[in-house]
Amino acid sequence: MDYSKSKQAFNEAVNLMPGGVNSPVRAFKSVDMDPIFMERGKGSKIYDIDGNEYIDYVLSWGPLILGHANDTVTGALNKAVLNGTSFGAPTELENKMAELVIERVPSIEMVRMVSSGTEATLAALRLARGFTGKNKILKFIGCYHGHSDSLLIKAGSGVATLGLPDSPGVPKGTAENTITVHYNDLDAVKLAFEQFGDDIAGVIVEPVAGNMGVVPPVEGFLEGLREITSEYGALLIFDEVMTGFRVGYNCAQGYFGVTPDLTCLGKVIGGGLPVGAFGGRKDIMERIAPSGPVYQAGTLSGNPLAMTGGYYTLSQLTPESYEYFNHLGDMLEAGLTDVFAKHNVPITINRAGSMIGFFLNEEKVTNFEIASKSDLKLFAAMYKEMANNGVFLPPSQFEGMFLSTEHTEEDIQRTINAFDKSLTVIL
Ligand code: PLP
Repeated sequence: MDYSKSKQAFNEAVNLMPGGVNSPVRAFKSVDMDPIFMERGKGSKIYDIDGNEYIDYVLSWGPLILGHANDTVTGALNKAVLNGTSFGAPTELENKMAELVIERVPSIEMVRMVSSGTEATLAALRLARGFTGKNKILKFIGCYHGHSDSLLIKAGSGVATLGLPDSPGVPKGTAENTITVHYNDLDAVKLAFEQFGDDIAGVIVEPVAGNMGVVPPVEGFLEGLREITSEYGALLIFDEVMTGFRVGYNCAQGYFGVTPDLTCLGKVIGGGLPVGAFGGRKDIMERIAPSGPVYQAGTLSGNPLAMTGGYYTLSQLTPESYEYFNHLGDMLEAGLTDVFAKHNVPITINRAGSMIGFFLNEEKVTNFEIASKSDLKLFAAMYKEMANNGVFLPPSQFEGMFLSTEHTEEDIQRTINAFDKSLTVIL
């Protein structure tokens, strides 16, 4: 593959933006490559500025569940933009969007739109603290909930990729109010509640972790969190920024049948435009300003273009979409299992709906500690070869692959073949 235009663009970018990028994982550091600069996408394919085509499993880090440039979404956006880009006053589309979210997400009786996943989790924590009058939050090691201070502690995603467990700039006092325990470790949660239960406002969890690679909850984990939080009067917050509308038609909470008090959404809910949301029980949500005293606001919240992107994305998803994801996931899992066995390379595959995580790891991956034992060197080598073979994977072992409704069986077969070719070259 010729990456010369990408190389040139990156050389310019490093003098303009920190690390040459506007978000850390885009720098491709953990796979020891320069970033590939993209130009356009259509369906399951993305095209770089050198004209190379890739089957895209990044999908803008999750939002593009209908693939790139979905005709209905772009058509609606084209129409909406002619009416103006922002009003700073309510629109009817916000009502339609809220109705759709309330209908689809079991825990949400009332919702507030924001502009990113980070804003959604930040506001949900403030609300949990404001509602309960307590201070501490419990989160899980390797779960990423955006980059707000209280949550940037033992977070996964780009932080894991860069090996930065905490960020300078997070005040010590803030960090002291965040308790961290391992994902899937209910006993550790119980111990934390025995010690600090009187002051824990909420437990925030990715119902399927997606920022340490894909790690589903073990049986009884989410149910256990529901029980413990109810017992102690803490709120259970599902961060469904990644899993929302990806793991199931009714999000992960519908799939697992566990209803949290609050839910955070992002990514798919904006269909590729900047949207986040948080919602939940009405008595809790009514504590948000202006109906209640907990302050939260946003100049572009509920923005008409963002609502259009989200509404026309969510309305095209059906329960059958998730059956299709499972079918493609079965095919990919079977193919990868065979190819890696053929090359004698250990692999563990974790899946949930349209999220697929593979770890170059012998052990079953149930938490960040085990995920960290994966062969990162081999991953980096394989990553480069996969790109050369026209497959765009997330450039980190600690990120999952995403499917869209536009991925085809042919895409999956080509991807399996590319893994085979890549391993043949590097081993
Ligand atoms: N929560 C989860 C589970 C995420 O995966 C992310 C982003 O990757 C966020 C929150 C933060 O969302 P955003 O990047 O839109 O601020």
